[in-house]
Amino acid sequence: MRRYSAKSVCQGVAVGTIYVYKKGQNTIKREKVTNADAELKRFEDAKRQAIAQLDQLYEKALKDVGEVNAGIFETHRMMLEDEGFNEAIRGIIETQLVNAEFAVARAGDHFAKVFADMEDEYMKARSADVKDISERVIRVLSGQDREISSFREPVIVVAEDLAPSETIQMDRDKVLSFVTVRGSANSHTAILARTMDIPALVNAAIDDLEAIDGKCAIVDAEEGTLIVEPEEDRLREALDKQERLAQKKELLKTLRGKETVTRDGRELLLYANIGSLKELGGVLENDAAGIGLFRSEFLYLERQDFPTEEEQFKTYKTAAEIMAGKRVIIRTLDIGADKKCDYFGLAKEENPAMGMRAIRICLSRPEIFKTQLRALFRAAAFGKIAVMYPMITGLNELQRIKAIVREVCDELDAQGIAYRLPEQGVMIETPAAVMMSEELAKEVDFFSIGTNDLTQYTLAIDRQNEALDDFYDAHHPAVLRMIRMVVENGHKAGIWVGICGELGADTTLTRTFLEMGVDELSVSSGKILPIRKIVRDYP
Ligand code: PEP
Ligand code: MG
Repeated sequence: MRRYSAKSVCQGVAVGTIYVYKKGQNTIKREKVTNADAELKRFEDAKRQAIAQLDQLYEKALKDVGEVNAGIFETHRMMLEDEGFNEAIRGIIETQLVNAEFAVARAGDHFAKVFADMEDEYMKARSADVKDISERVIRVLSGQDREISSFREPVIVVAEDLAPSETIQMDRDKVLSFVTVRGSANSHTAILARTMDIPALVNAAIDDLEAIDGKCAIVDAEEGTLIVEPEEDRLREALDKQERLAQKKELLKTLRGKETVTRDGRELLLYANIGSLKELGGVLENDAAGIGLFRSEFLYLERQDFPTEEEQFKTYKTAAEIMAGKRVIIRTLDIGADKKCDYFGLAKEENPAMGMRAIRICLSRPEIFKTQLRALFRAAAFGKIAVMYPMITGLNELQRIKAIVREVCDELDAQGIAYRLPEQGVMIETPAAVMMSEELAKEVDFFSIGTNDLTQYTLAIDRQNEALDDFYDAHHPAVLRMIRMVVENGHKAGIWVGICGELGADTTLTRTFLEMGVDELSVSSGKILPIRKIVRDYP
């Protein structure tokens, strides 16, 4: 039995087999070979396997996300079968007498560069696809072809670190828990674990990942431990604990269908945070009154190219329809910082959290923003959609947004396309927005406080840097005072004010937020009923 301590980022207990996830290792060695034919055959075999994987992924995506989204795997298959690409690889093996891995990497780099240098935005974006397919073949060649989404039985995923784009692609029915060696409690991967409501640990002090792969383990996120190869009585204890937690959850279910109203008659809007449509099941099960934050950027992160207007429209419309008249607040894309998306072609930055992210991308590249707004406004005709803008610092951005919104409406009018202008709000997640909240409140329908970034920018603590977790005081009086100030300024202008950052789900603060007059809390689905209970007992 081995025991590793870690930091819990989502409570619960999981018992299962460990699956160690490794990122594609890109350092490909150039090795001389004597038998080119054998190497050519290795390449052909690997290609066949890669195609079989793509076919499987296509079938799975077809069921999960529909034909349009599944199309990417068909495109990859076609690229992999492209004669030019294949000839280049064969040529490198035959003329340079080198290993197939090196030949695929070389040809992949060459074709990726050719695409990246093209003028056309669509062709430019194909560069990431070429990299993707060559990495797939290399993974097969080097025996690292296990896909994160391909395990048959549910597993405990253990990794050095996980990017949000990797986490979002996992099949949640197959993941019992996440454990990472690195990662901070405030990273988007931790947030995703909470949205998926699965036990998760970060900062796990595991020295040898290889050694624990495939082993039976317990993730006890209540006490912050990973126990590998537990003894019989420890295993029984964990299963009992799991059972007790399930019973507690069951008990809370009696609160489903009940109002989130205090004893003195004040209603709190209790909404859910989601990153994709897949999480709507949990939202309905936990009886949220709406969606307070749909992180739309995950739609962009789970794919290799920009989602089209039609694809986005379908997603937003589905969310509105499933929520059947309840408010669905969709945040416009917040790409940048830790949420990296290769096909956006963003320059590498020294300080990405303070760089080209969120609304700054949208205002610099209005064609991307307009596509999303068109899809949102069209979908708003099918339900109670509201839109909110991230990373606002003042009135200037809002004026620029409003000008683009007007253009979008004019274009839709001219084309005779049905739409509805939804409620529009801003996220208050920069200290500047707090200081400007009196003025901003007069221009929007609501405020939603993003405490994750607000804490990061107020305390000058990078939320990604796990070494600073000890200094990240989520209850810092500066942040709490800011929340109070924003609520007061919002109410002065007659708008409602909510919190959609992780602090909103902190049950030790629910009573404080009620006392401050916060109107809405948007939290991961698993936190809806525990918070409803506190509200109903207040004061
Ligand atoms: C926040 O910053 O609090 C927020 C809700 O946005 P995100 O965590 O996605 O940056
Ligand atoms: Mg934020």
